[in-house]
Amino acid sequence: MKDLFSLKGKVALVTGASSGLGVQFAKALARQGADVAICARRVEKLEQVKKEVEALGVKCYAHKCDVLNTEEIRETVKAVESYFGKIDILVNNAGVGDTAPAEDMTDEMWRKVVGTNLDAVYYCAREVGKVMIKNGYGKIVNIGSLHSEVVMSDACWPVAAYAAAKGGVKMLTKALASEWAKKGITVNAIGPAYFDSEMTNAILGSGAFDAVAAAYCPMGRPGKEGELDGALIYFASDASSYTTGQLLCVDGGWTTI
Ligand code: NDP
Repeated sequence: MKDLFSLKGKVALVTGASSGLGVQFAKALARQGADVAICARRVEKLEQVKKEVEALGVKCYAHKCDVLNTEEIRETVKAVESYFGKIDILVNNAGVGDTAPAEDMTDEMWRKVVGTNLDAVYYCAREVGKVMIKNGYGKIVNIGSLHSEVVMSDACWPVAAYAAAKGGVKMLTKALASEWAKKGITVNAIGPAYFDSEMTNAILGSGAFDAVAAAYCPMGRPGKEGELDGALIYFASDASSYTTGQLLCVDGGWTTI
């Protein structure tokens, strides 16, 4: 049973691994024995994360990548494949949370949020998917959100672009899962509620969050570090060999009411 969740001998690529949840995901994969490639735009932060991942006893390869640039994605995937020889696991995590009331959002803000949170998830899956199809094996874990499923009626912070993108991630997950099911690839998604990170610390520290969590979240609190690890390792390992196309919300019950 313990081996069911082992990632020894596997190679994972985590996008957006210079801060927040991406760092936690890279370390969780390493603790299960996977070698890990990490990418993002801020190379100095990636170098620090690389050291922390290597301290867990696995190999780590860091590569600069702006996921809004498809050429950089192709180049990154090529570099990771040539460094490790394969890519077994992709955690499609890079994302942004820029927000404004729907009536005020600029074209640029809409394109940045949907481009990073949805378009890039597809572009990364497409490029890594080619490697996985060639190898007949792959586990793709897309990072959605509770906003893949719901928004909040009195919009404490507006989420039109973010929810449109994350809702798209849910359907993209199903579509890729269905297309690649017979090619040895599973595609699933995690829908976190609110966890402390660069993206959310202003919201979580604003005081407004407590009232929102009390109204919308049965557990009445944000997620804690480590509470996404179980879902990640399940989807990244052979424990989920017959599970594909699923969005698992890890949200303290937020999407149940
Ligand atoms: P952070 O802001 O801490 O991390 C975002 C990561 O994405 C950074 O590593 C950043 O790296 C990277 N990134 C952003 N834009 C780009 C880009 N154009 N190219 C490459 N990398 C990029 O936020 P979180 O850790 O909170 O977010 C991680 C994921 O989790 C996101 O998809 C987010 O939507 C999702 N999520 C987060 C929740 C939360 O409560 N924290 C809840 C639900 C979902 P760099 O700037 O170095 O490029």
